[in-house]
Amino acid sequence: MPNTSGRHFLQVPGPSNVPDRVLRAIARPTIDHRGPEFARLALELLEDLQAIFKTTSKIMIFPSSGTGAWEAAIVNTLSPGDKVLMFETGQFATLWKEMAVNLGLDVQFVASDWRHAADPGVVESILREDSSHKIKAVGVVQNETSSAVTNSVPAIRKALDRAGHPALLMVDTISSLGSMDYRHDEWGVDVAIAGSQKGLMLPPGLGFNAVSEKALAASKSARLPRSYWDWQAMLAQNKIGFFPYTPATNLLFGLRESLQMLREEGLENVFARHARHGEAARRAVRAWGLETVCADPERYSSSVTAVFVPPTSNADEFRKAVLENFNMSLGSGLGRLQGKVFRIGHLGDFNDLMLAGTLSGVEMGLALAGVPHSRGGVAAALEYLTEAAQEVQSQTLQAVLETASQAS
Ligand SMILES: *Cc1c(COP(=O)(O)O)cnc(C)c1O
Repeated sequence: MPNTSGRHFLQVPGPSNVPDRVLRAIARPTIDHRGPEFARLALELLEDLQAIFKTTSKIMIFPSSGTGAWEAAIVNTLSPGDKVLMFETGQFATLWKEMAVNLGLDVQFVASDWRHAADPGVVESILREDSSHKIKAVGVVQNETSSAVTNSVPAIRKALDRAGHPALLMVDTISSLGSMDYRHDEWGVDVAIAGSQKGLMLPPGLGFNAVSEKALAASKSARLPRSYWDWQAMLAQNKIGFFPYTPATNLLFGLRESLQMLREEGLENVFARHARHGEAARRAVRAWGLETVCADPERYSSSVTAVFVPPTSNADEFRKAVLENFNMSLGSGLGRLQGKVFRIGHLGDFNDLMLAGTLSGVEMGLALAGVPHSRGGVAAALEYLTEAAQEVQSQTLQAVLETASQAS
């Protein structure tokens, strides 16, 4: 009998755990999406989302998965045969590239071992060589969820600027928005792509585009066919708080609640929490004597950790043992990493004890599945989390003492 009492641990890197507050918000009765209450909700959300993307430009919400928002980014800005530059950082970058090819674009795909980020120097030299500006867009995945490798968006922006290249910059923030810092305006991104079911703590079902003025201008002359994803139709209706078709009304109730939660905690604190959990998870991995897929410590992810099992073991059998014995879902190895890698999602509505439970399930599962490893991963993570908590405690005490001495 599989163990099903207590809570299921959903530790895949999306969908993430949906907080009770958000679930309750979603459970409200559906309202008329052409009525005044809906218009107020939509206008509020479209404005509040700007703080999450750190932008003053337009944001659109599609009833879709993240993949839909990828497609929206492409079909609104590009024309058949346009050249685009993309980087093979893992499975999601590969899927996005395949979509671009399917839509009739000419993709230059920079190969990689899935263990390193796109090299900004390579980006710059490719763009410098393209002196006739045939490349119309550069597409990059900020947090490659399959490999837990992050790309530096500001470094890639600078590479475009150094090359003096006018290509649009498109960034997939699906598993980074609301977990890791993202600055749409400051980093000069033209189209950001996001989804609901990762850092935004919602169920799957919403896709987002944040678009710059430059991207909007490109959409006026872009010739790829589009209908459902058409930005102009969406923006015309959004102006008055409506959608060109039926929106995912109840998910939008949930979004209002999750944005409220992010505001309450403060985005910077949310990022620090994710960074802490990423570091604690990697300390556990190191103590187990296992290796992360990401080979560059500068490019580690805060929202997911991807771990190689030794070549004699099968990661999917290990995950099966964890699910059956401890009622926990871990992420699988995707694409070429299938069976070789498991992934620990530590994003969204998550805390130290949830991470401790997650890592305990991994450590027990490694033993049960007979994966060669050392003990002590959980202990290493707990030590780090304790130190981090002690630091917060002493900072709080310091602040209290300072306030008291100012008052006296
Ligand atoms: C999850 C994910 C996707 C795919 O999103 P769907 O909602 O499954 O379509 C794309 N890119 C990244 C980086 C992701 O993490």
